[in-house]
Amino acid sequence: MTTTNEAALLAAVPDGLLIGGTWRPASDGATLTVADPATGERVKEIADAAVDDGAAAMDAASEAFPAWAATPARQRAEILRRAFDLVQERADDLALLMTIEMGKPVAEARGEVAYGGEFLRWFSEEAPRLQGRYGANPEGTGRMVVTQHPVGPCFLITPWNFPLAMATRKIAPALAAGCTVVVKPAALTPLTTLFFARILQDAGVPAGVVNVLTTTRTGPVSEGIIRDPRLRKLSFTGSTPVGQKLLEQASGGVLRTSMELGGNAPFVVFDDADLDKAVDGAIAAKFRNIGQACTAANRFVVHRSVAAEFTRRVTERVRAFRTGRGTEPGVTIGPLIDDRAVTKTAALVADAVERGAALRLGGEPVEGPGSFFAATVLADVPAGSDILREEIFGPVVAVVPFDDEDEAVRIANDTEYGLVSYVYTENLARGQRMVERLETGMMGLNVGVVSNAAAPFGGWKHSGLGREGGAEGIHEYLQTKYTMTADP
Ligand code: NAD
Repeated sequence: MTTTNEAALLAAVPDGLLIGGTWRPASDGATLTVADPATGERVKEIADAAVDDGAAAMDAASEAFPAWAATPARQRAEILRRAFDLVQERADDLALLMTIEMGKPVAEARGEVAYGGEFLRWFSEEAPRLQGRYGANPEGTGRMVVTQHPVGPCFLITPWNFPLAMATRKIAPALAAGCTVVVKPAALTPLTTLFFARILQDAGVPAGVVNVLTTTRTGPVSEGIIRDPRLRKLSFTGSTPVGQKLLEQASGGVLRTSMELGGNAPFVVFDDADLDKAVDGAIAAKFRNIGQACTAANRFVVHRSVAAEFTRRVTERVRAFRTGRGTEPGVTIGPLIDDRAVTKTAALVADAVERGAALRLGGEPVEGPGSFFAATVLADVPAGSDILREEIFGPVVAVVPFDDEDEAVRIANDTEYGLVSYVYTENLARGQRMVERLETGMMGLNVGVVSNAAAPFGGWKHSGLGREGGAEGIHEYLQTKYTMTADP
């Protein structure tokens, strides 16, 4: 049930498409319904964009581009900084909105506001620091000038699991670089993006620089934009199969692309680990966002001599969790995003148990309204189980024992994904060897959460292309020009 507070907040969220600085209905008047995954209840009806709305958004982004690209970096930075300040002021509203539409507990949603907001501050500071270079060519027959230029209008597609952070992680560097954008949030969680777009307007982002399309007609609307010859860049966060399809579409326009795709993170615990720290890290790496994070630990690869004790301690911690709507005090586990996610999680657990895994806790959907799955612990998960190959995206711990370091590395790298790995060891040399040997774009060494606005977030192998955040993040939205000039 929504409270009076929630109703007032939901009423304040725009229900249109943001195109060229104005909020408008879909061209054919279609609407889509947003629901609360904890109750299944409808919470708001908003515009459902059609293909020609995509073309209108591209018109707006293209028209706004030259002026925004020519706006001094300091001025762009100050607008982003104002947006950061407004996000802090409206943090409670943003957090509550995420809990309503996505399900994560409010305390975690507050954490996302802090993390997501930081991209606005970081890139507001990065924009004025962009530098080129100048030098004589080695033959001494000319001068080389290297400059950076915004790539042009960008299409940004975000997933439902981090409704604010995935938007700021793309929009902030794009705007800092001087690009204009069309943003398409997931149809399951569009409200946070709409509310954030209003914040950007209030911060002074000019009309047409940020355009927002909410739609259930995802495939055709997106393809129309990706094939628009005015588009210069596609940035996507979502599943690997959709990313692969979009890369094919992007090849027509030879678009710059950034792909933040799926993960299958190993969480490796050696016999020389500090087990207290490892258990704390495991809880954070697994249960943050109800397990629905691309960085979530998917496989707990634990030395056989400590596997039983590690599993026992994790199980005790998980037993104390409280499941419920994320607005209720003390709730640590909210609902999954929808019933499909519940069915998929149940199938992965059933497959592992059939193959011989030991169910220590949970294992079933929770009866009643909403899309809940009980926090689950599985020990001795046999090789070949689906749960070790597929992204779980649910609150399930799967423990796999190993006997020596080489075996741990082999198991950890035995996946087409390569986003993040976690390693717990008190042995410095072993930690360094793991940094060299694990095939992931990010690594947590004795720590269970790696995300930071100042760090280059991204994966190897099928986990993606490009980096978001850090000094690297803004270069995804810049193109290099080299000019040879004659000697003076
Ligand atoms: P998804 O691929 O189904 O959807 C992601 C986004 O793509 C949504 O906005 C969706 O509407 C859109 N989309 C779906 N089909 C499309 C199509 N044919 N054309 C254009 N857009 C399309 O993924 P999801 O279920 O929303 O999100 C979960 C996935 O995202 C997981 O695999 C997770 O690992 C990944 N993810 C990755 C990161 C990262 O940074 N690497 C971060 C968060 C989530």
